[in-house]
Amino acid sequence: MILVTGGLGYIGSHACVSLSNAGQEVAILDNLSNSKASVLQRLRGICPNSVRFEKGDIRDKATLSRLFGTYQISAVMHFAGLKAVGESTKSPISYYDNNIGGTLCLLEAMTTAGVKTLVFSSSATVYGDSCNVPIPEESLRSATNPYGRSKLFIEDILADLHSSDDQWRIARLRYFNPVGAHESARIGEDPVGIPANLMPYIAQVAVGHRERLNVFGGDYPTRDGTGVRDYVHVMDLAEGHVAALRALQRQGGMLTVNLGTGSGTSVLEIIDAFSRVSHRDIPYQIVERRPGDVAQCYAAVAHAERVLEWKAKRNLADMCADHWRWQVENPNGYPQS
Ligand code: NAD
Ligand code: UDP
Repeated sequence: MILVTGGLGYIGSHACVSLSNAGQEVAILDNLSNSKASVLQRLRGICPNSVRFEKGDIRDKATLSRLFGTYQISAVMHFAGLKAVGESTKSPISYYDNNIGGTLCLLEAMTTAGVKTLVFSSSATVYGDSCNVPIPEESLRSATNPYGRSKLFIEDILADLHSSDDQWRIARLRYFNPVGAHESARIGEDPVGIPANLMPYIAQVAVGHRERLNVFGGDYPTRDGTGVRDYVHVMDLAEGHVAALRALQRQGGMLTVNLGTGSGTSVLEIIDAFSRVSHRDIPYQIVERRPGDVAQCYAAVAHAERVLEWKAKRNLADMCADHWRWQVENPNGYPQS
């Protein structure tokens, strides 16, 4: 059985489906701080294998020890954490406590239980202001906010852990921009309040919940002046996790891998693609740049292809179509319970 922390969240829930499709049973630990309990029923409806759930916090040692005592856990996928960059600058302590403190508790419990295989959700944010695209894994890392710094610290903690005991098998996966939803439209991204990210914001404009999109900056040195990112379908990302687990089982060691498609898409190109699949107008206006944004950021993917034997398969139209189907079938996100 695989323990999935944060498994009711956006990426973790999709990873549960991929794990289940690969024949694994999963146990989810989630404190519901950024997800709803109704995700569980949805997941059970689409996962072919059993999905256990424990409501609890990764910082709670008693809960962790009970989980490791109850289930035969062979590996952990660790998604639980806080992820809003803006909020992290206002509440750094809660970000360090949740992300770093939580990871330390988890690692301690894993050590005690003798479970030494971990797949960790890192982020392209660890490349900081790097603008040498495509970005390879060995690029210099830096952080511009507490959220990013928490990912940097955790990456370093995991490296130290692996150096101290090479029985540990650890994958540090650096996600680029996850978008889309499971093709069933039963699970997807359900942001609280005003979406901070582009794709959910566009989806809410297309469905009529918001009037127009603010495009942050039209004067970047990119092909149309708007920011370029590497959007990757969340199911490709989820399958990347299963591939990482297999790679760890195959060869052990510590892997640090970008999960992206390797190609960049501008904001205007996303608007156009989304408008085509949804057959809706997406009104927008170009406004000031958003502080902290880089012009372009997309992954070098050769390492993922070689080490994980994984490559993103779904294209931009698939990402928009699946995101749109999820939005239309769940205009208000998940039900409360
Ligand atoms: P999410 O908020 O949808 O999911 C995180 C889940 O963890 C939520 O269900 C939340 O309730 C749970 N959680 C948070 N703190 C917890 C705690 N202390 N104990 C137990 N459960 C807790 O986020 P997501 O988009 O699925 O992201 C998952 C991971 O991937 C995060 O670590 C995030 O930093 C990382 N990541 C996300 C993105 C992205 O764009 N979504 C990009 C790069 C990296
Ligand atoms: N963006 C935008 N309007 C929005 C949200 C995002 O123009 O309401 C742009 C943003 O400036 C960036 C791209 O869309 O160029 C992706 O932003 P997102 O916040 O989704 O991801 P990240 O900044 O983490 O790459």
